[in-house]
Amino acid sequence: MKICSRCVLPETFPGITFDSEGRCSYCVRYERSEKRESAGRRFDERFIEILDQVRGKRPYDALVAYSGGKDSTYTLKLLKERYKLELLAVTVDQGFVSSAALENIKTVTERLDIDHYMVRPGSAALRALFRNSMTIDVYPVKALERASAICNSCMNVVKSLLIKMAVEMRIPTVVYGWSPGQAPLRSSVFKTNAPMLKKMNETTAAWFNTLVGDRLSGFLLEDRHFAAPEKDPYPFIIHPLAFLEYDERHILDEIRTLGWNVPEDTGSHSSNCLLNDFAIAEHLERFGFHPYAFEIAGLVREGCMAREEGLERLSARPGAAYLARVRSLLEGETE
Ligand SMILES: [Zn+2]
Repeated sequence: MKICSRCVLPETFPGITFDSEGRCSYCVRYERSEKRESAGRRFDERFIEILDQVRGKRPYDALVAYSGGKDSTYTLKLLKERYKLELLAVTVDQGFVSSAALENIKTVTERLDIDHYMVRPGSAALRALFRNSMTIDVYPVKALERASAICNSCMNVVKSLLIKMAVEMRIPTVVYGWSPGQAPLRSSVFKTNAPMLKKMNETTAAWFNTLVGDRLSGFLLEDRHFAAPEKDPYPFIIHPLAFLEYDERHILDEIRTLGWNVPEDTGSHSSNCLLNDFAIAEHLERFGFHPYAFEIAGLVREGCMAREEGLERLSARPGAAYLARVRSLLEGETE
């Protein structure tokens, strides 16, 4: 299989082409230039401005999606310690959060003294959502280039819930810990508004409907959320790791000081989710490329990861016993 000579994208990646030096079209277009760095600085400045504008106005300054993985743990630490924000962290336990990750979540939120919601949606609806994500095509190619269908479904539940909570609780910012490879810089800070959220909500509702009927409608915005409020309740959405420094070793060192430990039960690409390796295997089989190839290619291009390490991570495959166990859990068998 042909792989880009600069990053790690394979020839099976949708729409990819290579030049005479074996560089992929993404690498050719990418400019690691001063222009990019100054764009990063602009987002950082905008971020500081927004924080100055919202800090202390409401009981919470930011609602943070907290998976318990390394990146969201680091994000939580930065927001609390460097930016001095009042935080509400939310974890959605979709039934596959590893027990080591649950331990990390408890330790970290206690250590940082952060208010924390643990949300556990009904497990039958979620199992059906994940199962049907494997067989019913609802997501656009662009979304599947960056994550498996199962991960897309899970993230859509999380994103819907956080927006709804932020609007209802009047929390001015929603923050995610996406790495620079996962989140494009240009969308790392943006203000939502009613038409935008309405559109997003309708799209997600249609996906959920096709996959599981109306069983997840409690996670979606309703008409009342768009009924002319006296004050704009729609939050900023921010992915700070897209424009702040990102160094995995530094991140791990920092979060270990909070008592966070690397889980040993979550496979090669996740530090919280037991379903992740299964979702990767399913995506590889269905589409012929690794769902983390795009993210890892981004990290390699940005200089945040060595190419050899990226290639090694993308070559890891889970065992048959693990895959069979997850499949039976998704079918509804309990352990
Ligand atoms: Zn490339």
